[in-house]
Amino acid sequence: MGGSNKSEVKLIDESGKRHDGRSPEDLRPIRMEVGVLNNANGSALVEFGRTRVIAAVYGPKEPPQKYVALPDRAILRVRYHMAPFSTEDRKSPAPSRREIELSKVIREALEPVVISELYPRAAIDVFVEVLQADGGTRTTGVTAASLALADAGIPMRALVGGVAVGKVEGVLVLDIDEVEDNLGEADMPVAAAPDINKVTLLQLNGVLTQEEFERGLEMALNAIKKIVEMEKETLRNKYSKVSLEEV
Ligand code: ADP
Repeated sequence: MGGSNKSEVKLIDESGKRHDGRSPEDLRPIRMEVGVLNNANGSALVEFGRTRVIAAVYGPKEPPQKYVALPDRAILRVRYHMAPFSTEDRKSPAPSRREIELSKVIREALEPVVISELYPRAAIDVFVEVLQADGGTRTTGVTAASLALADAGIPMRALVGGVAVGKVEGVLVLDIDEVEDNLGEADMPVAAAPDINKVTLLQLNGVLTQEEFERGLEMALNAIKKIVEMEKETLRNKYSKVSLEEV
């Protein structure tokens, strides 16, 4: 299959390994930490390989512009932003069309789990700051934001996690990085809350057969279960540490 790819970089080698040595179903090394910022109500740092994203949550609080408030629930406001130093070529600090769209996509991925009815007329602000980009920043952003919301003590129905599946040289691969995204045939970011059986983000760039789509979605959802377990472990570790120190 590989011969049909126009790229010179070999994305899948003779033994089926990817350009960074991973097998098709391997995630990148993941690191999660909560409470990384002092001034936010909740915060988290999440890394998938070289992709590094920080999320900060403020609220629930009274929104500065009263007209945006809703009488029956809190509004969730999300800003996704890539730091100018997050990419190889310095990215313009001005908000791009892509960042505006991703802010909405991330908000919609989180809204189903936030119990916003508890805070009528309030606003919950989520800042997703990409510190280093190497593919999968929106799904890493959703994962970091979910952790930061939990760290802020915002009541949630479940935690959300995200990962992208791709197709490179005819092979479905989990957790694609920037090279695989740029040179591959498809990129499908997914976010889900497995504990309430909800898929909250699903996008597909490129082309998959129906069978590949179904298998790819299953790969992503299985990985998201593990990612959400890691989120729980991260939260448990932080809070068990806090309670030990307090004793
Ligand atoms: P995602 O980060 O969710 O995969 P895209 O598919 O749009 O979103 O981007 C893939 C990757 O391309 C990003 O993670 C980042 O590494 C790179 N990228 C995106 N936008 C820019 C930009 N403006 N400048 C440089 N690199 C970028």
